[in-house]
Amino acid sequence: MTVRVRIAPSPTGNLHIGTARTAIFNWLFARNQKGKFIIRVEDTDLERSRPEYTENILSGLKWLNLDWDEGPFFQTQRMDLYRQAIETLLAKGLAYKCYCSTQELEQMREEQTAKNLAPRYDNRHRQLTAEERSAFEAEGRKPVIRFIIEDDREIVWNDLIRGGMSWQGSDLGGDMVIARTPETDGEIFGQPLYNLAVVVDDIDMKITHVIRGEDHIANTAKQILLYEALGADVPVFAHTPLILNQEGRKLSKRDGVTSIDDFKRMGYVPQAMGNYMLLLGWTAPDSTQEIFGLQEAAELFSLDRVNKAGAKFDWQKLNWINSQYLHKMPAPQLVELLLPYWQEAGYEFDLTGDRPWLESLTSLIAPSLTLLPDCVKEVSLLHSPEVPYSETALNQLQQAGVKDIITAILSAIPDNLDGNTTQTIINDVTKAHNVKKGVVMKSFRAALMGELQGPDLMQSWLLLNQKGWDKLRLQSALTKI
Ligand code: GLU
Repeated sequence: MTVRVRIAPSPTGNLHIGTARTAIFNWLFARNQKGKFIIRVEDTDLERSRPEYTENILSGLKWLNLDWDEGPFFQTQRMDLYRQAIETLLAKGLAYKCYCSTQELEQMREEQTAKNLAPRYDNRHRQLTAEERSAFEAEGRKPVIRFIIEDDREIVWNDLIRGGMSWQGSDLGGDMVIARTPETDGEIFGQPLYNLAVVVDDIDMKITHVIRGEDHIANTAKQILLYEALGADVPVFAHTPLILNQEGRKLSKRDGVTSIDDFKRMGYVPQAMGNYMLLLGWTAPDSTQEIFGLQEAAELFSLDRVNKAGAKFDWQKLNWINSQYLHKMPAPQLVELLLPYWQEAGYEFDLTGDRPWLESLTSLIAPSLTLLPDCVKEVSLLHSPEVPYSETALNQLQQAGVKDIITAILSAIPDNLDGNTTQTIINDVTKAHNVKKGVVMKSFRAALMGELQGPDLMQSWLLLNQKGWDKLRLQSALTKI
């Protein structure tokens, strides 16, 4: 059997982190099992679905490097299949026309609530006679189609994440609407609805495993009945835990950042997002390992290592993972990600001539980056002939002997500075002035960088030297003493 899984986003908003995480689990499972990963866009909610959301979801999945094998399929283009299935269910007597008006349903609900009962449809039109039906039609009532759910039916399945699951038919709200009222006179029924469309598609697409959020558990119980009614094999189900905020509630729009775009805008890289999301609920066989490429995780992935409990969103961990990827990324690749931030901050580069210099700069600042936009502050220390001096740097410059140290370094700078020469100059000046090397370094940093902390000093010096800015900065520092 070839494993076939799918992600089935509804394009009613941008790619949400919950959907993205479900997509990752499906993708990992498919790749682990050498199976197929399919995309199906569930766009039947015509009022809320928008093409720009579909665009956003697909480009977000691509950004995360979740390549798919089939699709995207669109439910709005597959309505005929759903209609056929509804006709089959009607023909088998497993579905029927219900003529209840909105007011009748409302009244039913009110009476149930008054009696402290859970609101449900009481299946009152399940057994209508032909005469009763004609009478309703004569009144001009238009039916919905309901699928029969027997109250005494127990629905059980073995969930690959949650173990043995069981639902009682009576807890599913009564016979379920699977098609809206007809829109035109010639039609028997109107738009097919969600649960039916999902099942028809999963059957048609030969989905073997349905991996989705635990908020779909009640749908699963209903859908199993539909599989049976349509004479199809029931797939294996795995319900993933919800992503929770710090307070332990479901992560929602109120938590601010929830769409993959938000994270992208904040400066997280896709490798880190993918890595972080796969740890939201899954633990590797070696539970101490936290950094994974998707391919590597796919080799290790299994659904029995996905936790049942909700997964708390942990910003600190996400930041740490992002920093790990930025620290290790090759400079030519990282520089491409940083350039837009620098350009937006107003820095201008000669993108051909400056590239080697920019790559050295990138290697130098990479260890200080947590998020991509951090590069703006870092570049400000290095990409200018002059720098402002912090209070502490100015204090350092005022210390006895510092003027001589800076003057000595300045006069020792050759035209072509290299790594060895920088060391030699510092060592010579240290010896000649009979001070500790730490004092020379601290004073030199204050003069060259305007701050007492920052990236590697010798590397910074080499970079500044290539632009001729080291001398300018030291000269400027001398005027402050
Ligand atoms: N369209 C559903 C959603 O976006 C997913 C349904 C499913 O995976 O079966 O939540």
